[in-house]
Amino acid sequence: MTFKSLGLIPELLKAVEKQGYTTPSPIQEKTIPIILEGKDVLASAQTGTGKTAGFTLPLLQTLDRTRKQRHRPIRALILTPTRELAAQVHKNVVEYSQFLDIRSAVIFGGVNAKPQIRTIRGGIDVLVATPGRLLDLENQGALSLKRIEVLVLDEADRMLDMGFLRDIKKVISLMPTRRQNLLFSATFSKEIKKLAQGILYRPVLVEAEPENTTAVKVNQKTYRVDKGNKVEVTIKLIADGNWKQVLIFTRTKHRANRLSDKLVKAGISSAAIHGNKSQGARTKALANFKSGKIRVLVATDIAARGLDIPLLPHVINFELPNIPEDYVHRIGRTGRAGASGVAISLVDVDEVDYVKGIEKLLGEKLSSEVIEGFEPTDKPTQNKQKKTYKKKRFVRR
Ligand code: AMP
Repeated sequence: MTFKSLGLIPELLKAVEKQGYTTPSPIQEKTIPIILEGKDVLASAQTGTGKTAGFTLPLLQTLDRTRKQRHRPIRALILTPTRELAAQVHKNVVEYSQFLDIRSAVIFGGVNAKPQIRTIRGGIDVLVATPGRLLDLENQGALSLKRIEVLVLDEADRMLDMGFLRDIKKVISLMPTRRQNLLFSATFSKEIKKLAQGILYRPVLVEAEPENTTAVKVNQKTYRVDKGNKVEVTIKLIADGNWKQVLIFTRTKHRANRLSDKLVKAGISSAAIHGNKSQGARTKALANFKSGKIRVLVATDIAARGLDIPLLPHVINFELPNIPEDYVHRIGRTGRAGASGVAISLVDVDEVDYVKGIEKLLGEKLSSEVIEGFEPTDKPTQNKQKKTYKKKRFVRR
């Protein structure tokens, strides 16, 4: 996974590279594509997960893409509970926006307001603020929130703990109702859920789960098969089980297309989604899948990121991912929120090392079965490249 594959523009990629980040963190992988789509997000993420870049990078891209006016009304507001966090977030905004024509400012209480007012008067696109000082300056007529397009509530749980609920509500009453809302919180208390309900519009729920645990409810199976039999086995599984909604993962776009075509030929309605498909085609495929018009969605890992897919009873790994963390993401598509699900992996002889890597990450052995009539006979490919996993470069700091 790269930042580029998440859809970020070159100016942001350059800034990210300058920071020395090589790989997106799990929360960034999830939030960046969703935020770029303009959706509301409710994210559970603690400090140290890379959440700030997770909302700042796509937010900057959206602002850059949609800039019309020559003057600069404040179009994005990032609210934080403390001055320290406001300063920290603003530092990030400055770093990430250095190759873009985007201006920003930070305001918080306890310091002279005059320089803050001057900066705002000069025209800014992004404002990072604590609630008290923000309302203060708005009240004085030093700033307006009437043109806000994106609102971020960072560490929303802490804001509530610190008694900012009324202030948040007041701030929201000063903004247009049509806007994108991003709420980040370390915990999801009753109060946070209530706040979210009042603010967010059909939010996508994003969780920065501990990466090496899988949903307990997922029933994981691996079937050893020969590569040449995988299509037939897939058709058999779907037909025998009369599965109505199946998400299938492949490693490549090409394979996704080919498999989808073969399923359709076998009478199983299917569509493929991957990076080469237009947004329109992806949205249509997803809508058809959700409504039950098509039974199967074949996706690559990248395409599946950020997809707003409901709980799924069945996920098939047609090919195992070559990054073990991707396996966890894939099967996380099933068995959430108390509903049970089945994740099946079709493993050919060349993928056995991938299974080992996944088992190591999970800390458990996966059951391995053989399907009658499809007993594997292939020998490992000669001279095959040793399948080693790419090291995960993201380090929690
Ligand atoms: P945050 O959770 O936003 O407070 O970020 C925690 C730390 O991780 C900060 O020092 C960031 O600069 C750093 N960070 C954010 N994203 C990445 C990444 N993709 N790779 C490495 N470090 C990162």
